[in-house]
Amino acid sequence: MRTLIISDIHANLTALNAVLADAEPYDRVWCLGDVVGYGPDPNECIERVKSLPGLKCVKGNHDAAIIGDIDINSFNLEARASLQWLESELKPANRRWLSNLGERLEFRDITIVHGSPSNPVWEYIMDRKAAKKNMSEFSTKVCLVGHTHVPQIYEFQADTSGEIRHRQPALDETFQINHKSIINPGSVGQPRDHDPRSSYLIYNSDDESWVYHRVEYDITKVQDRILAAGLPQRHASRLKSGW
Ligand code: ZN
Repeated sequence: MRTLIISDIHANLTALNAVLADAEPYDRVWCLGDVVGYGPDPNECIERVKSLPGLKCVKGNHDAAIIGDIDINSFNLEARASLQWLESELKPANRRWLSNLGERLEFRDITIVHGSPSNPVWEYIMDRKAAKKNMSEFSTKVCLVGHTHVPQIYEFQADTSGEIRHRQPALDETFQINHKSIINPGSVGQPRDHDPRSSYLIYNSDDESWVYHRVEYDITKVQDRILAAGLPQRHASRLKSGW
């Protein structure tokens, strides 16, 4: 069974559609939150995600803010501006769908959260220190996280005094996970590793293999919609640089 793993779509429908087309065939989808925020297509992205097969989805910090779980003032100025815009755009049914998302899901050998297992909505796992602290916060073999918008793998090395190995994944190369690990698929709608292409991860449960992919999408189209909606200019410009 092939699982498509996506995160941080951030209301970018063009990127989402590019990923969904590139990733085929897949049997089910795991989504690690922040379906909305920053981008111009919040309703369209929620409606597309809702329709995906075998969907499991958790809530991100932007999703939590728009339903009132998090104070909007804890966001920076530009993120706040897009949340205020979203406030007037979001359809009631889509707001309800976001409200019903959990912060943490566990099934079989997998835990999924947006930020980290110890602080599912807010904490960033950016380095080995944060990864090490979080290894004891989940009991499954793998914890999937998003939030940083950077694809990365942190592996717990039980045989070498509990050190954490950090790997930057190679693209289009299947790999195995042999140790307890925290894995980030990167971002669909707003990559922040200086590669503007959408990032996603495939897990094949038949042979327990994983593979990262990147796909190009029409960035200019999305930038035009961001500016037409009156959203902050930086949300548009950063898509080109992947940062
Ligand atoms: Zn995000």
